[in-house]
Amino acid sequence: MCEQCGPAETSQDVRSADPSRRKLVLGLGAGLGVALAGVPALTSSAWAATLKDGRWCNPALGYFPSGGHYGAPRGSSSHAGQDVTNSTGTAVYAAAAGTVIRRGTAVVPGRTGNGLVISHGSGRYTYYGHLSVFRVSLNATVAAGQWIADMGATGNVTGPHLHFETHSGALGTTVNPVSYLAARGVDLGGGWSTIDPGAVGATVKAVQHLITQRGTTLVADGDYGSVSVNAVKKFQAARGLVADGQVGPKTWASLVYSLKQGSSGAHVRGLQTALNKRSAGIAVDGDFGSVTNSAVRTYQSVNRLVVDGVAGPKTWAAAVG
Ligand SMILES: [Zn+2]
Repeated sequence: MCEQCGPAETSQDVRSADPSRRKLVLGLGAGLGVALAGVPALTSSAWAATLKDGRWCNPALGYFPSGGHYGAPRGSSSHAGQDVTNSTGTAVYAAAAGTVIRRGTAVVPGRTGNGLVISHGSGRYTYYGHLSVFRVSLNATVAAGQWIADMGATGNVTGPHLHFETHSGALGTTVNPVSYLAARGVDLGGGWSTIDPGAVGATVKAVQHLITQRGTTLVADGDYGSVSVNAVKKFQAARGLVADGQVGPKTWASLVYSLKQGSSGAHVRGLQTALNKRSAGIAVDGDFGSVTNSAVRTYQSVNRLVVDGVAGPKTWAAAVG
């Protein structure tokens, strides 16, 4: 078997390597955060150089199957991506803004089934494999988080999953997608994102709306500059969190509200903004009416979450992750 996503390896080595790899990556990220927060003279310009800049996001919700990790043996070669398992039809999103440069069957040598390649500039590419449905055309310009395809089981696979690759330097130069995204504040497969001061984009706007709802009015301009950072630090301090201005899992979990039809306010604007990043296409009016209710349910459905119309922590994490 030399397929990228052939049957999972059955050796004990590979089975045990997968979860430990994930722990290692996450542990490394956590340790790095502590180390940076402990540097007293760190300036905002130093923070601005972070890769956790809001430009990357999770391409699909799911779990890591045994033997589906980057570098897993595949006959004479090795697995070039990370598999994320979920059911056929699960939404697949662009991991970052870019241009669809390949779309079709076996569009990268050695890959089988329907795939997409997005170019993100500066020699960076992402590949999405085994798709059931394409939701973008060839040469389309896509935004980070845009719904680009549906998960499937096309090509040589044993079941539906997304085969996700990150290429850095040139198309064909793959790197571990889990650590690549972790360095950019993204938990591949699902979970809260992390953004640092200097970040930009829709996720920052969602934070700004939420902070406004928490009592400090911010302009939702999508620019995570000093005014917004200071407001987040104030919020973190009041909640007993590390007041470093980094919006990570603990801060997100404290910041979001559980929202449902009838809710109104800046927090609903935050939710609507986050859903729009995932192609919901609704008005950001702060009114959780029937349109937003429908958008939340659709989002939950295509992401295989519990479809109850309530935007609780899992729905929020999926939307801003
Ligand atoms: Zn794969």
